[in-house]
Amino acid sequence: SLVLVTGASGFIAVHTIKTLLDSGYAVRGTVRSQAKGDYLADLFKASKAPFEYVIVEDIVQPGAFDEAVTGVAGVAHTASPFHFRVNDPQQLIEPAVKGTLGVLESIQKNNSCASIMDDNAPKPHVRTEKDWNETSIKNVEEQGCDARPIDMYRASKTLAERAFWKFIDDKKPNWDGATICPPMVYGPILQQVSSTSELNTSNANVLDWLTGNKAESDIPDVATFNWVDVRDVALAHVRALTVPEAGGERFIVGAGPGSPNDLVLSFERHFPERKTYPKGNQSKVEAINAKSNRYDGSKAERILGIKYHDIDTTARDTAESLIKRLGV
Ligand code: NDP
Repeated sequence: SLVLVTGASGFIAVHTIKTLLDSGYAVRGTVRSQAKGDYLADLFKASKAPFEYVIVEDIVQPGAFDEAVTGVAGVAHTASPFHFRVNDPQQLIEPAVKGTLGVLESIQKNNSCASIMDDNAPKPHVRTEKDWNETSIKNVEEQGCDARPIDMYRASKTLAERAFWKFIDDKKPNWDGATICPPMVYGPILQQVSSTSELNTSNANVLDWLTGNKAESDIPDVATFNWVDVRDVALAHVRALTVPEAGGERFIVGAGPGSPNDLVLSFERHFPERKTYPKGNQSKVEAINAKSNRYDGSKAERILGIKYHDIDTTARDTAESLIKRLGV
């Protein structure tokens, strides 16, 4: 059967398409330009199942996905801005919410742990699919264009996911949906990227630690992120489309807390000849991560059968891909 992947040019989307094609599903992707579509058509020309693309220039327009959804058995909706080059919250909220509502003609949607996280809670705290990020919405409501871009982004994720569940609740359609909520997603890049400035936001973080000539004293004493491998996020999308029990559920797809210390320790193990990153401290790994909030990814293990990559493998594969693809 045919699956639609929106925002097909994105970091997570290209892996989702690859996992779908490898599993024998035909895929239609939506992109904003022919050049982006042609890159993907070339990347997947020898795949096990066929790939095609359609151009959806503006996902905010009413009916933008009307043509794209025809004949599809499922939808993985990943088109949504994940960057901070904004000065008004609506620049992120409008495409996130209207894009989601627009594509709900078919369904199945990817969302972010940004809709679960809440900076205000005392650390360390375990978060589950029962949690929602109220703080970022409040900050954006109160501060408007003066809010931090990260709050604008997080608000866009919560509002888009709320719109998704409200739509299902109100319309009670005869299909079901699920949301995938990953924390920071790292992994090898398959998407089109010709320079470091075009790199997706989450991998830019790995690039910064790999090449940023940071000092040992820059490594924080508390874990700064929860993370997951992009290949696990891609598989979660495929399983959410195919496992019946996934219907109606939110899933945190996350492997646990991580810190720059974990990243540089992996670089040291696999790229010892490079001198562009600081020295990590193996003896501090557990203590650093124990102080962090934890997103509990066990529901996705249980229901979607995800077996998470470990951070050493993910950091290694991400770095290897950045070195190969970007010549860093
Ligand atoms: P990318 O930036 O690599 O991909 C974003 C995709 O969305 C691209 O295809 C982009 O198209 C498209 N897009 C962005 N803005 C618009 C818009 N206004 N109209 C139409 N299309 C748009 O990011 P990721 O793959 O990392 O993110 C995909 C999804 O996953 C997003 O919803 C993001 O919020 C979410 N997410 C990502 C995490 C991460 O760590 N990477 C963590 C949690 C959630 P184009 O190429 O044309 O710009």
